[in-house]
Amino acid sequence: MRKCLPLNILEPTRTKRRMLRETYSSFLSMVREALSFVDGVNSRGQLHNKTYEVFRSKHSVASQLVVEATSYAWSIRKRRRKTTGSKDVGRCVVRFDRRLLSFSETKRSNPVLTLRTNSKRIALPVSRDGAYQRLQAHLSQGWKLTSIIMKRDQSLLVALSKETLGLLVRRNWLGVDINSPRIAVSIVSPGIDILRQMYFGKDISTRQFGFEKRRAFLQRYRDMVSRSKAGLKLRRLSRKQMNYVRAGIWLLANEVVRLAEAFNANIAVEKLRHLRKRRGEWIAASRRKVNRIPYGFLRYALKHVAERQRVLLVEVDPRYTSQACPSCGHTGKSNWRGYSYFMCTACGFEANRDRVASLNIALRAAQPAYMRSDFSLGQIS
Ligand SMILES: [Zn+2]
Repeated sequence: MRKCLPLNILEPTRTKRRMLRETYSSFLSMVREALSFVDGVNSRGQLHNKTYEVFRSKHSVASQLVVEATSYAWSIRKRRRKTTGSKDVGRCVVRFDRRLLSFSETKRSNPVLTLRTNSKRIALPVSRDGAYQRLQAHLSQGWKLTSIIMKRDQSLLVALSKETLGLLVRRNWLGVDINSPRIAVSIVSPGIDILRQMYFGKDISTRQFGFEKRRAFLQRYRDMVSRSKAGLKLRRLSRKQMNYVRAGIWLLANEVVRLAEAFNANIAVEKLRHLRKRRGEWIAASRRKVNRIPYGFLRYALKHVAERQRVLLVEVDPRYTSQACPSCGHTGKSNWRGYSYFMCTACGFEANRDRVASLNIALRAAQPAYMRSDFSLGQIS
């Protein structure tokens, strides 16, 4: 398990600030150079062999930083090509591993972080704020510090890792359908009683709707009135929206995992097949809703929280989860009656369409029972 937390330092002197800046820029130029060597190279080791001596003679930086810059270049090589087609890098993060950093205390027992920058070690007094307390709390819970990461603005992050404990396999199954404007959840027991069905994330998509409306207004205004402040406001709004959605998704993931624990359930999600796969299923007017909860990020958050809480999370076959009848298995779009209503044409099973998908996901995870021919959902309606 990995995690990053912010670490705030007290405003450094101008010299130290400059050294941090220089470290960043020489790291970035090494990354750029290393990327120019990437063609025809098959592994990080090969890239390292090609660049190491060159960089050592050219840049007067700690050897470990040379190694880090090469590794970083290797890790982003594909991403760059995919997005821009060019290999140019606008920004990067500098990673100081354990050999390049140390922690100590002043006489008054204030914490000090020492980093090995390009030319020498510099001591940076750490601010004893909320971020620091949070870091301390993590360290006391068994998290280990692996490295310090410096961003372009010289702000610092602490990378932590913790050994993953064994997962606990539970009796019931919680299926999550994260492909709709709200998140539908169904919990089933192996005897196939539905223990609980509920929705999450309605507030996120509602709020997203508001954000989008405001954004559309600002975009119109920016295009109409030259030199307006709309562009700046738009950027601020985007940041606000991103923060809101991210925070909301983490809360959501925690809620779902807590629910799974409360119902003694493992979690099942769909295997990632195609992002926004169900887009075609929505009528045009509601299509925008589908993307309001970032699917990939929610999956990531769910996996992360589940692992932390030792909850088993499995991925099931995503095919026809919204078309199949959970009761008799009859599959087809004819089961859809309108926008949100599901009624099986074979057996007459009725439900909300969102619920059907999450129920099918839970049932697929609880497989063996689902495959039995005598299996029936007759007792619930
Ligand atoms: Zn049916």
